[in-house]
Order: sequence, then C-alpha cells, then structure tokens
Amino acid sequence: MTSSKIMKYGSKVLREVAQPVESITDEIKQIVDNMLEVMYKSDGVGLAAPQIGISKRIAVIDISPHEPSAKAIVLINPEILELEGQNEAEEGCLSVPDIRGIIKRSERIVVKALDLNGQEIRIEADGLLARAIQHELDHLNGKFFVDHLGRLKQQLIRKQLRKIESEVKENRQ
Ligand code: ZN
Repeated sequence: MTSSKIMKYGSKVLREVAQPVESITDEIKQIVDNMLEVMYKSDGVGLAAPQIGISKRIAVIDISPHEPSAKAIVLINPEILELEGQNEAEEGCLSVPDIRGIIKRSERIVVKALDLNGQEIRIEADGLLARAIQHELDHLNGKFFVDHLGRLKQQLIRKQLRKIESEVKENRQ
C-alpha cells in the first residue's frame, strides 16, 4: 500500500492535517522505510508521510549532505515544545519542484516525538536541523514553505504553482 511517488503541490493530501499514529505497527515501519528510501533517492534532507500520499504524522530527516556527522531522524507524532529566536534561509521542497524562497523560521527548537521503538525522544535543534524539522512539521499540518512567503513573492511564483497544480490534476484523470 505504500508508494514511492512524491505528491506535488495541488494534491489534496498535502493540504490535510495528518492523523496521529496510534501504535507503531509493521505497517508504520514499512512506511518509514519507504519514506527514507524516497528521501535519499530524491536527494532531499527531509520528507513527511503526506508527501508520499499517507496522511499520518510521520517525518524523516537527514541533513548529512550538509552536516556529515548528522544521522537520520524518524519523528512520529512530533510536537514542538519550544521555539526561540529567528533566522532566514532559502528553502525548497520535493513537492514544489523548481521553486525556492527565503523563509523566516525559529532559530532554535525543542521537539518531542516517538521513535520507531515507541520511545519518547526529545531533540534540541538549531540551524539547518531546526529548519528542516519545522518544514516537515508544516507538511503534517497541511502547510507548504511557500505559504510563509510575502505577498509579492507569492505573486511572482503564482504561475509556477498553478502549473504544478494543473499537472497534478491532469495525472489524476
Ligand atoms: Zn517540503
């Protein structure tokens, strides 16, 4: 039932608030494996389950292409506990191809989640990791990074977004 196709901007599932995971079954582990595979294959540093069409609160992150000491992180039912400071950096998204934008995010965050063993984990993150986590958590709440852009930039990319949306609609038919 899992898929390796990345859902694009305009897909309904990406605007839904994803459902909490109730227990970590083999199916959930399979979904996580699949997500990691898709993320690495696409050269992404993060992926949320809705991006492969599964409306569940699961995200995977691996920023090792930018910070070689980093390891893959699996976040199930993640929740942000603390946000601190602010910075701006460029972001892109596998579901919004060819569009990038400067996005303001919190500089430092504390997040709690379950890992694949059902253990509660707590992660203090800053810089790119904090940014990646915030980006993926947005996906679990039906949001895209482009939603954070100012009105002027939104207008500039509107055509590109419409194009992605229309391709999504064509593929559905
Ligand atoms: Zn994304």
